[in-house]
Amino acid sequence: MDNLRIDTEVLVIGGGGAGLIAAVEARKKGAEVLILCKKDTGKSGCTPYAVTNLTYSTPDSEQELFRQMVEVGGYLNNQKILDVFVREVADTIPGLKQYGVPLTIADGSHYHLENYPNGPQKNLPGIYNVVPGPGRPLSFNLTLPLLETAQKLGVEVLDHVLATRILVTEGCAVGAIALNLKTGQLLVISAKAVIIATGGCARIYERSDNPVGLTGDGFYLGFQAGADLVNMEFMAFNPLKITPQVIDMIKSGKPNEELMGVGRAHYSLGGILVDTRAESTLKNLFAAGEVADGLLGAARLGATALADAIVFGTIAGREAGTRVTRVSRNDVLLKDVAEERERIEGLSQGGEASSAELQKEVKSVMWRYAGMAKNEQSLSEAHEKLTQLKAIQMKVSSDIPSEIGQAIEAHLMACVGEMIVVSSLQRRETRGQFWRLDYPLSDNVNCLFNVVISRHGDVIETRRKNVVMTRMRTPSVQPLVGCGCFNYLKPFEKGKDKEG
Ligand SMILES: Cc1cc2nc3c(=O)[nH]c(=O)nc-3n(C[C@H](O)[C@H](O)[C@H](O)COP(=O)(O)OP(=O)(O)OC[C@H]3O[C@@H](n4cnc5c(N)ncnc54)[C@H](O)[C@@H]3O)c2cc1C
Repeated sequence: MDNLRIDTEVLVIGGGGAGLIAAVEARKKGAEVLILCKKDTGKSGCTPYAVTNLTYSTPDSEQELFRQMVEVGGYLNNQKILDVFVREVADTIPGLKQYGVPLTIADGSHYHLENYPNGPQKNLPGIYNVVPGPGRPLSFNLTLPLLETAQKLGVEVLDHVLATRILVTEGCAVGAIALNLKTGQLLVISAKAVIIATGGCARIYERSDNPVGLTGDGFYLGFQAGADLVNMEFMAFNPLKITPQVIDMIKSGKPNEELMGVGRAHYSLGGILVDTRAESTLKNLFAAGEVADGLLGAARLGATALADAIVFGTIAGREAGTRVTRVSRNDVLLKDVAEERERIEGLSQGGEASSAELQKEVKSVMWRYAGMAKNEQSLSEAHEKLTQLKAIQMKVSSDIPSEIGQAIEAHLMACVGEMIVVSSLQRRETRGQFWRLDYPLSDNVNCLFNVVISRHGDVIETRRKNVVMTRMRTPSVQPLVGCGCFNYLKPFEKGKDKEG
């Protein structure tokens, strides 16, 4: 494995919606920008496979969008970040047209009504649809025009390159290490600011509707670098088919194996904790899109994920692009590079399991013990099993770079699973998309907090953080959701929540 050194100013990791818009905006501020993508930029991640509905607001509906997102989020959203979102989304989404994204206003009110626990509302926020463009699959119409714009502006793109570690010097992100999945070369990239835009982790579960590759890499990268992560216990599961039996099951609070088979892991609600400028708790490390959190709480409205990726991708790009002129370049530490090389080589020294077997095992553990419905015992079992899986060495042909890449993914999937499980053990209630069989009700008295995790040596440290509330401070006394993973159904009667 030889090293190749690359210097840039803004390094963007991930070639989906958030990464592309961040790259465009950073470049427009005059920064040199490089995108790294482990597959094909513009054609990988969830963005090109989405249904392509994007929410937006107008001055009339801003307040209503805010209210719905807080109610659906179970009052765990950071309301300062939400405030920025409902204001910025009004211009940012229609603004995509300047980059050639074909958009039309659609009647998306059903999205909101289905989600909203308290029935129909007036002044609903609107939805834009991406519409077909010349000779392209529908959803590529969001990413490919952004990619073309980025390249016209002079953004560099390196595909089939897997970022494995964020480099940190004196408490600041200063670049990343990445593996070229075609040549096996290790890239050492120095940058003045780094933006993580690697999407979510739904593919660490046995069943998922996400495309291949959504293994939570950015959670691992941010966590290892020392950034805080928040709300990692909240994973959205989509049932493919809602039947009266499914509704009866939820009402009874008892999962039925056969019916639970309709579920698929869909969306990571938690992620790298960011502020209103999309900056993480580590200086010069930004995060945007599904990998970041603050905006959402325990669940989200339909059509807000793409809008989130575009709004905070824009903010991250502008902020990072402006910041670089004020940041002097700290050099990367050679010892970090040596350490990472050793770690990667160590994953595959003399092991017996293949990376495919390890990935399969992680997915099975996550689905069985930490999936749609869970309790203290199943989560503790998951924790124990993931701890063992994390330590497994794999059988890898060291001359096949893609195999090394799969081994790196297998290891980080076990680590991300552990982050989810450790966070889930902290939440003793059911809220939003989080269904605890042993605590079936929402508990506004004891559980109105965000779970924050950070790295302490090799251990995950957890703490409970007060929720940032500005406009809405009193949680609904009606059941906030009460039906766990199936919460985007219209609400129905279920036991009373504790008031608080
Ligand atoms: C079937 C489906 C339909 C959906 N429909 C909608 C919808 O209609 N409206 C809506 O709002 N939301 C929808 N969503 C959710 C939405 O698509 C995603 O939340 C959003 O696209 C995430 O964008 P992103 O840029 O954060 O990540 P992604 O688009 O997932 O991109 C992540 C990128 O990071 C790259 N990457 C990952 N790890 C690494 C690494 N280690 N090194 C380098 N590159 C890496 C990937 O290859 C990819 O290019 C849908 C999701 C699915 C699965």
